[in-house]
Amino acid sequence: MVDNLTPEQRSERMRRIRGKNTKPEIAVRKLLFSLGYRYRIHASSLPGKPDLCFPGRRKAIFVHGCFWHGHGCKISNEPKTRTAYWQARFSKNKERDRANLLALHQLGWETLVVWECEVRHLDRLAEQLVAFLGPRRMV
Ligand SMILES: [Zn+2]
Repeated sequence: MVDNLTPEQRSERMRRIRGKNTKPEIAVRKLLFSLGYRYRIHASSLPGKPDLCFPGRRKAIFVHGCFWHGHGCKISNEPKTRTAYWQARFSKNKERDRANLLALHQLGWETLVVWECEVRHLDRLAEQLVAFLGPRRMV
């Protein structure tokens, strides 16, 4: 086993990363709230169930874990073993992400994907969110 995680640690990580209300998701929510935006979470009627949505603006935000969604950045920490297996999983997830964004666009929604690694730079992220959402005080 070359992997630096035990199977138990690996499945714990998967559970955590796939789940709703993940750490980066909560950080983005807090940031949006502090910026004065109000939002709905986990809109189950929309394609891909966006993590955050702004119905009045027809805008939706996904907060993607770098590992699970195969960002390929430093912190996505790709497993060193079973590479073919994980590559297949990641490309399946990415394919599904793309399809969800496309479906939302076809319904007239604008979308923004926030990556877990971007949540580390809150100032930059705040600028990005304001640029995407536009003026505050509108739901
Ligand atoms: Zn990343």
